[in-house]
Amino acid sequence: MLDALPTARRIALDEQGVLSREVLAGLAALPREDVGGLLTLADDVRRRASGDAAAVEVLFNAKKGGCSEDCHFCSQSARYATDVLAEPLRETHEFLDAAREARDRGAAEFCIVVAVRGPSNALLERVCEATRAIRADMPEMHVAVSLGILTDAHCAKLAEAGVHKINHNLETSRRHFPAICSTHSYDERWETCLRAKRHGFELCSGGIIGMGETAEDRLDFLCALQELGPVEVPINFLNPRPGTPLSDRSIVDPVEALRFVAMARLALPYALVRLAGGREITLQGLQDLGMQSGASGIVLGAYLTTAGRDDEEDFAMLRRTGFAV
Ligand code: SF4
Repeated sequence: MLDALPTARRIALDEQGVLSREVLAGLAALPREDVGGLLTLADDVRRRASGDAAAVEVLFNAKKGGCSEDCHFCSQSARYATDVLAEPLRETHEFLDAAREARDRGAAEFCIVVAVRGPSNALLERVCEATRAIRADMPEMHVAVSLGILTDAHCAKLAEAGVHKINHNLETSRRHFPAICSTHSYDERWETCLRAKRHGFELCSGGIIGMGETAEDRLDFLCALQELGPVEVPINFLNPRPGTPLSDRSIVDPVEALRFVAMARLALPYALVRLAGGREITLQGLQDLGMQSGASGIVLGAYLTTAGRDDEEDFAMLRRTGFAV
């Protein structure tokens, strides 16, 4: 077996090349005592790719709960008895107020999220109207959206309104996907990602680890992201929500969580690797190390249905770990 760490260092740093699946598999198999070296390499690659810039984003859950889909990790599915109550779509002025608050919290990007399979006409109109209002009020604020499965017509309207980025997560590997969702397919997700790119949007696509996937699934997932080429990869760590089918799963081992963050950086050296939901419960006191393992951004709490920690703690973490805030 090749000596994965020096090989990865040579390809990623010296040659500025792309790591193959074979090299990534070697990194996945590194013994735990060597993971520290992997994190250092990922940190070096991140510094070379994006310097000390930290990307800070705030999510806005514009229509909570009541979703028709059955994603097993999600407390917003209407199929599960969770503590998330379905709420109506927010009014345009609420989007604008939330975007202003995000700006005041230090975010450069505001991501509008709705819990749906895909947008209805009315929902799309509201999101477009809100995007126009935000862009007029804060031209410097980037607006991203996460609206589920999109058609060409949806994409055309979102582009016209000024949306710059589409989030649509692959979530996991193609092989594991049917085990976490039966109401739509991996191919539908893949197609929406490609469609977003065809329409000229920046693509944000990542997923969740800790949903019962194997090490092989994590590798497949990273290789699929390499093929897709998103500009941003959000990494979530399963926070098992009461009432969902994954409620009894364990929290991801923090060392394996860090290993995955580092591998994501090395697989996609120029992407924005963003630590997202579940980072607090998974990494706990190791969140600083998370930012020193290849990550280049965070989602500020709160997340869609769970709370994060105070912004000040996150900004202090970014400063401590050498990021410009
Ligand atoms: S992850 Fe999205 S599509 Fe799946 S149930 Fe939750 S809100 Fe619906």
